[in-house]
Amino acid sequence: MNVRTRFAPSPTGSLHVGGARTALFNWLFARHHGGSYILRVEDTDEVRNTPEARAAILDGLAWLGLDWDEGPDKPGDHGPYYQSERRDIHDAWFQRLVDAGRVYRDDGAWRFRFERKPVTMRDLVCGEVTIDYRDESNTPDMVVRRSDGSYVFHFVNVVDDLEMGVTHVIRGEDHLMNTPKHLQLIEAFGVAPPVYAHIPLILNPDGSKMSKRDAGAALSEYPRRGFLPHAVVNFLALLGWSPKDDSEIFAPGELIERFSLDAVNRAPARFDHEKCAWMNQQHLLALDPAEFAETAAAHFAANHPATPLPANFPAIAAALQEKFRLLDELPAAADFLLGDDYPRDKAATAKAASSPAAPHLAALAAKFDGIESWSAQAAKDALAGVAKAAGIKPGQMMFPLRVALSGRGHGPDLSAILDILGRERSATRVRVFADGLDSPIAE
Ligand code: GLU
Repeated sequence: MNVRTRFAPSPTGSLHVGGARTALFNWLFARHHGGSYILRVEDTDEVRNTPEARAAILDGLAWLGLDWDEGPDKPGDHGPYYQSERRDIHDAWFQRLVDAGRVYRDDGAWRFRFERKPVTMRDLVCGEVTIDYRDESNTPDMVVRRSDGSYVFHFVNVVDDLEMGVTHVIRGEDHLMNTPKHLQLIEAFGVAPPVYAHIPLILNPDGSKMSKRDAGAALSEYPRRGFLPHAVVNFLALLGWSPKDDSEIFAPGELIERFSLDAVNRAPARFDHEKCAWMNQQHLLALDPAEFAETAAAHFAANHPATPLPANFPAIAAALQEKFRLLDELPAAADFLLGDDYPRDKAATAKAASSPAAPHLAALAAKFDGIESWSAQAAKDALAGVAKAAGIKPGQMMFPLRVALSGRGHGPDLSAILDILGRERSATRVRVFADGLDSPIAE
């Protein structure tokens, strides 16, 4: 079978993680089976649709790398891909219901006559779901066309899936109970239904249903905070799908290879913010240093357009690659390397100032001045010399030196700091720190 899946967002708000995950599962399933993935924009609700929402959805999908084979800007044989432009198609299918005597007028609207029988759907994730249509009072015939001539969601959604040859409908569990209605329509058209897979809800960490306004819900936050698209794809894939072993880090290609609807869990998925950031870190660590520097530079330039990046930015980025989880942590982590005005950690400063090595920092600064050809190794040799003369271990000077150079007790490798700062900035910082030891350190 030539698999055809679709993502059918309604552009009434920005793309959120639930929608993005639905798109991802459709994309993964189609790619796994060598089929087609279609983007159909369900924009028939003129009151609630906005061009901004439409743009945000397309941008979000493009950022994630979920490329569609047919859809807006990618014409195929089953267009148009904006539902609002498919009116003629909807009219023709509606006429089939009229001809078959399955619709009747009611107060200006048109109702679809349900078959009065139990309807069972077999969902790949949720199993069997039956709705009994024998009791008319519980399941009144549904309006498919309003008195203003417009069609309801159920009708156009079904018609477009049939007309577009969709073989697998993968969508959020919120649509599960709509599906028997859809099956009734499909049977009335006398065609075979697609396969259905309703994927579980996404919950907040506290177990409440995740809504648009919850932390982490809007996909547009992710690029700004410095998530990598591949990390978000990886994270979203694991919200509901589980590989059958303990592996957690997957590139998109591996997800495509391993994805199957059988391994989608029935239970709701819980959103774990820590895990999402951790996963981003794993993907950042997997980049080679040049790629990492490029990615970090692009993120920095996009978010701090007024601050020019120094020429040694690739070295700064390389020194910090292991030090943060999200790219927007970089400016703070790199402040002492990017410029000379950066915050000093009080506790680390006090600890360095009271160390036995502190009185020898002035001598170290003088040694630094005298280094002809600066390198981290030359600086460390100078440090060893000063330590020896002072009768302390070189290791004891490392911490105060780090604090003098960076204003904090933790950070990148000391050698990387010495290399990046160079002789003058290193010597000056050590001297300023040593000078400050006589007087209370300014805050
Ligand atoms: N436009 C519907 C939604 O966004 C599509 C539902 C479906 O995938 O069938 O909920």
